[in-house]
Amino acid sequence: EVTKITIDGPAGAGKSTIAELLAEKLGFLHLDSGAVYRAIGVAAKKKGIDLDNEEAVSSFLKSLSIEIKNSGRVFVNGVDLTEEIRKPEGGILASKIARFPEVRRKVIEVLRKAAEGRQVITDGRDAGTNIFPDADVKIFLTASSEERARRRYRELKEKGYNVSFDQVLEEVKERDYQDRNRKVAPLTVPEGACIIDTTGKTIKEVVREIENLILH
Ligand code: C5P
Repeated sequence: EVTKITIDGPAGAGKSTIAELLAEKLGFLHLDSGAVYRAIGVAAKKKGIDLDNEEAVSSFLKSLSIEIKNSGRVFVNGVDLTEEIRKPEGGILASKIARFPEVRRKVIEVLRKAAEGRQVITDGRDAGTNIFPDADVKIFLTASSEERARRRYRELKEKGYNVSFDQVLEEVKERDYQDRNRKVAPLTVPEGACIIDTTGKTIKEVVREIENLILH
């Protein structure tokens, strides 16, 4: 029986969208690990913490209680940060604090606790390597950086953000570079993962492909 599915990949590969749809179809809980990193980054920034100062960030962590609600909402010390973490800045803040081992330990703890006794689909950068290395099905989603930037751009425009495509492409590349080259938990394909390139594929097609993988 499949109880844990992980979906990893670079920014904009479609992980969250696909994880959300699959979770709905399969009746699994969707755990968005990036949302937890975002929430910590946003909360630290709000407190005026220097995000390049590992010690300051680590001690800030101790004052945090992070909750992931069933609906996918993320609360930090009781404050709902769900909307705020989706702003483009949230991704940059997240990748800054995601470099620190203590932050990663905290996020893993929060996610494993949320997954206890449940069927979960977790998406992120290291869901299949570090968060749930024992997952039953591991997926690695990719797409060209241009395609990923196009998707992010469309999404941000729909939400009313005033951004240029070049700005988004730049951000996607910057985040790829940071995520692949950091010392701690760099983005890699988990052992045993199935790689799916989503360039030119619809969301439906990708969901179907993964469903087939789960069934076989
Ligand atoms: O996926 P999302 O764009 O929300 O992730 C934001 C940032 O959080 C990523 O760029 C990455 O630096 C960090 N992250 C991570 N490990 C995860 C999920 C996200 O380091 N499992």
